[in-house]
Amino acid sequence: MEKEIRVRFAPSPTGPLHIGGVRTALYNYLFAKHNNGKFLLRIEDTDQTRFVPGAEEYIRESLSWLGITPDEGEGFGGPYGPYKQSERSEIYREYVTKLIEEDKAYYAFDTAEELEEMRERLKAARVVSQTYNALTRGTMKNSLTLSPEEVKQRMDSGDPYVVRLKVPRKEDIRFKDAVRDWVLVNTDTLDDKVLLKSDGLPTYHLANVVDDHLMKITHVIRGEEWLPSAPIHVLLYQFLGWDAPEFCHLPLLLKPDGNGKLSKRDGDKHGYPVFPLDWKDPQSGNLTMGFREQGYLPEAMVNFLAFLGWNPGDNRELFTLEEL
Ligand code: GLU
Repeated sequence: MEKEIRVRFAPSPTGPLHIGGVRTALYNYLFAKHNNGKFLLRIEDTDQTRFVPGAEEYIRESLSWLGITPDEGEGFGGPYGPYKQSERSEIYREYVTKLIEEDKAYYAFDTAEELEEMRERLKAARVVSQTYNALTRGTMKNSLTLSPEEVKQRMDSGDPYVVRLKVPRKEDIRFKDAVRDWVLVNTDTLDDKVLLKSDGLPTYHLANVVDDHLMKITHVIRGEEWLPSAPIHVLLYQFLGWDAPEFCHLPLLLKPDGNGKLSKRDGDKHGYPVFPLDWKDPQSGNLTMGFREQGYLPEAMVNFLAFLGWNPGDNRELFTLEEL
């Protein structure tokens, strides 16, 4: 039997869904439908400091207005849930423990001041691109440099700690991206990324990889801003003994002058919406206009996004979601 195609849209509820995010969701949705597969919605809400009230509901309402309905996921059920990462902390901890036991991750106890000092030291030595990695970890306070007794003592006395990925030195990481083709990165350019934060919650990297594996995701289709994270993810898949999914990093929607990523400010400046629905910022109370309230039909938005960087090869301009 052929493997079922499974893709996901995995937004973080850190603000309203922007048209770039809608486009990512649309591509995932269409790819799933075209292949008779499944499209999942996963809420990546492990960064409590960036949580914005109302953003999650906004994401769901936007997708539903556009007809991009998940087959599984948060609010839709399915066999691999819960699909909200904040409800899955126990699962991630299990894999962190496994990585530590296998010497692929380690505890780090450094304080904010000590980390800042190291950054200053590196800056003075004109090493700016890396902080905590194979070259510097030996000078810091972690379970690779402290004795097991000291590690235990620190933990027992409730010292805050994080868990970091032990990135190997001088290894090539190679993976294929559907847009970029082969991508090659040497591990010496990567930091020992934090996997588990001091609040006990995982970072994006760990939660994303564990969930993509457990939810049997076959294709990761996401914005190009995540391409630099992909080598870390590939390494995590290797360390956990799992096959990596196929990657497809989509080029971003740019500002009208082509200079950088499209932002809400461009919308304000040029008088067009960049959000699907009106968004009222919970902090400032400011209202930003959305396509829906401006009178655009959902079909118009879907076709506009589908036609960016693609055309059907004839002069048809309007497709239903099903036809797309
Ligand atoms: N949570 C990430 C975001 O907010 C997801 C990136 C990914 O798809 O891996 O876009």
